[in-house]
Amino acid sequence: MQKIDIRWLWHKYKRAIISSAMCLLAVVLVAVISATSLNSSNVSKQEEVQTSSPTSITFVSPVKDGTLIKDYSNKTLKYNATLKQWEAHKAVDIKGPDGASVVAVADGEVLSVESNYLTGTVITIKHNDKLQTVYASLGEKVDVKMGDKVKSGQKIGVISTTAKNESSDGPHLHFEVLLDGVKVDPNLYLENSNK
Ligand SMILES: [Zn+2]
Repeated sequence: MQKIDIRWLWHKYKRAIISSAMCLLAVVLVAVISATSLNSSNVSKQEEVQTSSPTSITFVSPVKDGTLIKDYSNKTLKYNATLKQWEAHKAVDIKGPDGASVVAVADGEVLSVESNYLTGTVITIKHNDKLQTVYASLGEKVDVKMGDKVKSGQKIGVISTTAKNESSDGPHLHFEVLLDGVKVDPNLYLENSNK
């Protein structure tokens, strides 16, 4: 009796049961899809926060009419033709016309003017408590000294090949941005950046 009842019920309400099951499946699918997309949008938001510039400073280009010849890379290795090795390049290399001027990218104070074999003549400028910029591979004769106050766009030196670790790239500026002492992507701060 029981069996017959179930069969009869199934026969009679087959369509209703199947369509309810389909509806339930659809609801579950929609819920899963929306949960997944919500999750991924959260992830991309987090990435945006991590890669967006933490201060509102925008830099002028350190080399007028310069060309980017080696971009910043944190994890991806870039080939160093001079040292013949692959390495992270936590800076941007900018080439310009011969003897092109290098300028301060923002107002600040010259923290140091140093020279060493690998990175050549290097000027470091402090812009605020968190942010510093580093200009390496400059010509030996520079236009500023330690303690000087500089204005955005003020000439500090010229591009050169003094950085022996990148000399085969020709005269260029090796430009780094330090945020709380950590090298970050300069493209986050440079105006007209495509990133
Ligand atoms: Zn470089």
